[in-house]
Amino acid sequence: MTNAALLSQSPPFDGDSFSRLLEDLAGRAEEVDRTGEWPRWQFERLADEDVLGWVVPPEYGGSGVDAEALIYGYERLTTACLTTAFVLTQRNGACQRIAGCDNDDLKAELLPDLSEGRLFATVGVSHLTTSRQYLAQPAVRVAEESGSLVLNGLIPWVTGGIPADYVVTGGTCDDGRQVLIALPTKSEGVTMQKPAPLLALDASLTGSIELEDVRVDRRFLLAGPVAGVMQQGQGGGTGSVATSSLAVGLAGRSLAHLMRECERRPDLEPVVEPFAAEWSALRTDLYAAARGEATPETPHLASESLRGRANSLALRSTQALLAASKGAGFVKGHPAERGVREAMFFLVWSCPQPIVTAALRQFACLVD
Ligand SMILES: Cc1cc2nc3c(=O)[nH]c(=O)nc-3n(C[C@H](O)[C@H](O)[C@H](O)COP(=O)(O)OP(=O)(O)OC[C@H]3O[C@@H](n4cnc5c(N)ncnc54)[C@H](O)[C@@H]3O)c2cc1C
Repeated sequence: MTNAALLSQSPPFDGDSFSRLLEDLAGRAEEVDRTGEWPRWQFERLADEDVLGWVVPPEYGGSGVDAEALIYGYERLTTACLTTAFVLTQRNGACQRIAGCDNDDLKAELLPDLSEGRLFATVGVSHLTTSRQYLAQPAVRVAEESGSLVLNGLIPWVTGGIPADYVVTGGTCDDGRQVLIALPTKSEGVTMQKPAPLLALDASLTGSIELEDVRVDRRFLLAGPVAGVMQQGQGGGTGSVATSSLAVGLAGRSLAHLMRECERRPDLEPVVEPFAAEWSALRTDLYAAARGEATPETPHLASESLRGRANSLALRSTQALLAASKGAGFVKGHPAERGVREAMFFLVWSCPQPIVTAALRQFACLVD
């Protein structure tokens, strides 16, 4: 497959303006990685191109794109800039939870401004899914007191918490039921911890939020109290096809670089060809899954299988680019160096235990 063919497959977002957006984001990807500064300019560009309306239903001012188009958008944005694409997924996760809840007043209050980029929301839900699961005590405790919810504890992971107006988060009541709320970040008792320095994606400003007797009016309730609140309603979810689309995007970016190298160095061809075939097959399966074609008879379309394959390809393709780029690729700021660091993110982000276990077994060369 040629480089041009690789980069021009079936776009649902046709037209020059989406291509220009990708070029603009790619042009600043090294800078945002190096400076670690919040991608404010990038989000203004996303607002200009109506990207912020993708997951907002039309009745609230968005475009409500379908699942396949959303996956395509995430994949293409990642080829340009993983920081921007990743922050967008967290922001979209919050919007999807709000859009999918039964609280019509809150939807009408928040969604139009979220769609236009006048408000910014993010998610802090990992303590209800993948983080701190071994602890006896819940990370965030919730009590009901005279019409309000009172929250205490620590939300361990929040991307973009400092610039956010709302954090979609949750906690656990004494009886084990859970709630999900849109927490106004200006509420008394909310303390943003300094973002942690990371292996990559520093500009995502990811950190923890402390909650001390934070009183939230019930009008900010999205779901619950109910057992397993994250299993209710919609949203990308842990280890979902959406998370895989970012890993596929990163692999696609590495392969595009490798193909460019290949034009001058035919000795790379025997390696690049099988990588491109694997990427193409994975991408076909990813989009089939996004269209809802997975059945019990198609285990290769299961989200867990896709995420495992996407993670593996992202890791291997970025390392192949580094090896092919030699010492030059080891220098900070080179696309190969950034790609290798970014690939590591997929080992820890939104990674359910079976995917972690499969990765560990692969590293230990244990064949199933
Ligand atoms: C850059 C980045 C951005 C993120 N952004 C968001 C976000 O915006 N929103 C969100 O909700 N989530 C976010 N996450 C969270 C992410 O999806 C995962 O939930 C998180 O990476 C899980 O890691 P953890 O350290 O919290 O896991 P934990 O399971 O809490 O593990 C922490 C530590 O505890 C120890 N440990 C682990 N298991 C056990 C055990 N069984 N017994 C005893 N000790 C144990 C280990 O030493 C481990 O290092 C983000 C993560 C990263 C890295």
